[in-house]
This record gives sequence, structure tokens and C-alpha cells, in this order.
Amino acid sequence: MWGMCGEVGNLIDRAGRVARGLQFVEGLSPAQWEALRYVARANRYSRNPSALADFFGATKGTVSQTLIALEDKGYLCRERGAPDRRAVRLELTPAGEVLLDRDPLLHIDEVAAALSPAARAALIDGLSFVLRDLQRRAGVSDFGVCQECCLFCAAAADDEPGGPHRCGLTGEPLGDSEKELICVMFQAHA
Ligand code: SF4
Repeated sequence: MWGMCGEVGNLIDRAGRVARGLQFVEGLSPAQWEALRYVARANRYSRNPSALADFFGATKGTVSQTLIALEDKGYLCRERGAPDRRAVRLELTPAGEVLLDRDPLLHIDEVAAALSPAARAALIDGLSFVLRDLQRRAGVSDFGVCQECCLFCAAAADDEPGGPHRCGLTGEPLGDSEKELICVMFQAHA
């Protein structure tokens, strides 16, 4: 049994290993599951291989292998779109969306749901705090949620198609469902 010093680190490390082991199901690897989750949560500026490589802290070559495997299994497609035919946009297929309902990591949320609301909130706060520090040390990008970005303009495109919100960086209208997605260009409030 370890003492107080190192207890949190050991618990996180062991939970991470077991959680990783849970993800060798449905013929997928943990990296393939992570890529599917990412595409489901990323906004229009971030659903591309380069942003995914940033998010993973991985090389474009590694990410490309993961994407090819998911495409071969029919869970993901890579679309080339206007105006730039070279730009690749990643989209889940209907089979990919259905598969995510069986994401093995959902089990962890089911377990955490048994905690009191206060204990669950404290767990999320504590783990987020540790994760942010680890990401900073490892130089891994943290993609925030759009509506928490300092460039998010709520209701600024109220009367425009694609609104009601607007991205202060690109000037494009953003729909209500987009405000909860993660973005590669996210900028935290000072
Ligand atoms: S407001 Fe920020 S997070 Fe949202 S799309 Fe623009 S840059 Fe990305």
C-alpha cells in the first residue's frame, strides 16, 4: 500500500490503464475509439486530420493510419469539400454514430452517476485540474468548448441563416448545436 504521497498519481495511472484495456472491443483500438469521439465532438473548423493530430499530440502519419482503419471499417468518411478540394473534412457515418452509443467509456460515467452530485462535481473539477497541468507539461493542445471561447459572440447573428451566434475570428454564423462543440482555434478568456 502506498502512502498519501503518490496516491492520486497511482489511482489515475491505474484507472487509465484499465480504461484503455476496456477499449479493445468491437474490433477497434483505443486510438480508433478516441478518433471517433473526437469527430463527434469537434466543430467544422476542427473536423480534419491536422486538428486531430494536434488534439492527440501525435504525428500526421499516425493519425492517418487510424483514419484509414476507421474508414475501412465503415465508421468514418473523409470528404473533400468546396471551396478547397484539397481540404479534408472528417464525418462519422451512420454506423459510426450507432457504434458510439456502445462506447466502452460510457461505463465510467455510469459508475460515476452513483456518486452524489457534489462528489461527482468535485471529481470532475479535480480530474480537470490535473489534466490541464499534464497537458501543459506535455505541450498538448487543449481544445475548449466554443461557447467558453473569448471570441464567441452569443446572439450576434440572430437574424442570419446558420445563426444565432457568431465566431468573432472567422465572422461566420454558428448554430445553437455548434456552441457545445470543441474547436482547434479556441481561445480562453484572459
Ligand atoms: S468562437 Fe472560438 S471556439 Fe468558437 S468557432 Fe470561433 S474560434 Fe472556435
